[in-house]
Amino acid sequence: MKAVVYESFAAPPQLTTVPDPTPESSGVVIKVMATGVCRSDWHGWVGHDPDIRLPHVPGHEFSGVVEAVGKQVTKWRVGDRVTVPFVAGCGHCPECHSGNHQVCDHQFQPGFTHWGSFAEYVSIHQADINLVSLPETLDFTTAASLGCRFATSFRAVVDQGKTFAGQWLAVHGCGGVGLSAIMIANAIGANVIAIDISEDKLDLARSLGAVATVNAAKVANVVEAVLEITQGGAHVSLDALGNPVTCFNSVSNLRKRGKHVQVGLMLGEHSTPAIPMSKVIAHELEILGSHGMQAHRYDAMFAMMKSGKLAPEKLIGRTIDLEQSIDVLMNMDKFEVAGVTVVTEF
Ligand SMILES: [Zn+2]
Ligand SMILES: [Zn+2]
Repeated sequence: MKAVVYESFAAPPQLTTVPDPTPESSGVVIKVMATGVCRSDWHGWVGHDPDIRLPHVPGHEFSGVVEAVGKQVTKWRVGDRVTVPFVAGCGHCPECHSGNHQVCDHQFQPGFTHWGSFAEYVSIHQADINLVSLPETLDFTTAASLGCRFATSFRAVVDQGKTFAGQWLAVHGCGGVGLSAIMIANAIGANVIAIDISEDKLDLARSLGAVATVNAAKVANVVEAVLEITQGGAHVSLDALGNPVTCFNSVSNLRKRGKHVQVGLMLGEHSTPAIPMSKVIAHELEILGSHGMQAHRYDAMFAMMKSGKLAPEKLIGRTIDLEQSIDVLMNMDKFEVAGVTVVTEF
């Protein structure tokens, strides 16, 4: 099969031919129909992820068709249209038994712990618990855009932040994660404030339902701007970028007993950011993480898509072919493109 492979970190990947994968006894092989290019792929490529073994194939947000099925798989057949959360569970550890596959003790992450979806085929373990059946009306490109950023944002806003109608929700960073969160929070009736340094992204944020925006490059103090708009602070605030500054601002702009949810990855030199811990104590703030979303929670997201409350296809930027993914991947840290870039030709 054709695949994008890198032999060493931060060196240009190559489009090359590698052996086709075969399914494990409890796994499947999926023919990839669409795969998103994500900042996490960039983090992996530069060497921020200790799980990656070289040579490596990136790619973790994808959709496709089941091509081959292992002997022990009971729920899936060749031809099924599917996607997979970017963190998949083992099915046997205490976290999986409690339904929290997103923090599985032996997690399987295509594109990180194993070869990913920048290829014609991808092999997935424990298919019975990790595959998600796609609604017939959902196209592959939109489905691919759900697996990482949209699902993680859904979990951040709904399951972790427990955001409800009428609350103020601040979103720091309006890339794929932030824009997803804005759409989801708006759909459940929260008042969303979008924060970014790009007017283009703030325009997009407003079109997706943000009721107020803060241009962090133009205001003197982001935290004070949010406190002012919300008359006392956000109930829930997300660092959707993953940066010490946005993390600090997100915790600092909360009202008493507010919740900060860290969604953007904090890796490499950013892995231990400063947190205003005295404020966390005095105001009884909560600090939470959001790490993907379990396969069994996708139905809630699909129901909101079917009823028209969520339209993740609005977040898709451009579609490209597999060879172009190399250039996009290497430049992912430059924040140039608005919306999610998806590979649709292999
Ligand atoms: Zn597990
Ligand atoms: Zn991703």
